[in-house]
Amino acid sequence: MGAKADLHMHTICSDGALSPYELVKKAKAQGLSVVSITDHDSVAAIPDALEFGKEIGVEVISGVELSANFEDKEVHILGYFVDYKSQRLLDYLTFFRHERIKRAERIVAKLNELQLPLKIESVMEHAGTGSVGRPHIAAALMDEGFTKTYQESFDRYIGNGGPAYERKFQFSPSEAVQLIASSGGLSFLAHPGRYTTDAMLQHLIKAGIDGIEVIHPSHTPEHIVHYRGVTGEYYLLESGGSDFHGGKKNDDAVLGSFFIDESKVDTMKRRLFLQRSS
Ligand code: AMP
Ligand code: ZN
Ligand code: FE
Ligand code: FE
Repeated sequence: MGAKADLHMHTICSDGALSPYELVKKAKAQGLSVVSITDHDSVAAIPDALEFGKEIGVEVISGVELSANFEDKEVHILGYFVDYKSQRLLDYLTFFRHERIKRAERIVAKLNELQLPLKIESVMEHAGTGSVGRPHIAAALMDEGFTKTYQESFDRYIGNGGPAYERKFQFSPSEAVQLIASSGGLSFLAHPGRYTTDAMLQHLIKAGIDGIEVIHPSHTPEHIVHYRGVTGEYYLLESGGSDFHGGKKNDDAVLGSFFIDESKVDTMKRRLFLQRSS
């Protein structure tokens, strides 16, 4: 076993609790040598994380987590090694974050109709400068006393299909894969165990996805065997990580417990080298 790599985690630039600096520091303390920071619709954490990682000896891979739709299901696509300075990528991410604000406003309007007078300002305060998401709404609902727990906010109101649920901007998996490829990165289907049907997987493979996130806290041992098998059958790359958010989500123990071997990152780099030189 070589060094440990965790290629999925979030900072305050989306719905995580730690700053890029705090996250890289904690990753090192938890025994990780390689990390990818994969905020939802943002690469804002990358410059600080890279700089600090260099200082303390943690390799930081630029990353991002995009949301896409296949039929009526949402799928998440991770992009690694993306050019975080690409103006085209940054423009798309700015657009997605703007759409997230509009969606948060729609969710708040639905909550208001349900007699929960939550204000959008309170949600935006929780989001700070990061991309706003349902975790911020869940926390705002709890802090304002509308729900007793963070989880209750999802279970009663904003979870998928809940009475105050609203979809995101519709973006197809192939558009996500292409955006990542055109930004110089590799795309991975995130946590497929949560929702992926075989039809969806076939669609993503046809769309040119580079790999699958095989290791994830939501995966059972059967998921791991299954998705590792799929990577073998279709010559896809294998990734994995903790999806660490920190703070309210009580997931402190996952950082350092869900990882892949550094050799898998070397394989990604070889793939990238071939793609870039072809
Ligand atoms: P969003 O990107 O705004 O749709 O928020 C998605 C995030 O909300 C996910 O990454 C999860 O962290 C969290 N989430 C979604 N559904 C649930 C749920 N049922 N219970 C707890 N957290 C959830
Ligand atoms: Zn998240
Ligand atoms: Fe996700
Ligand atoms: Fe995530």
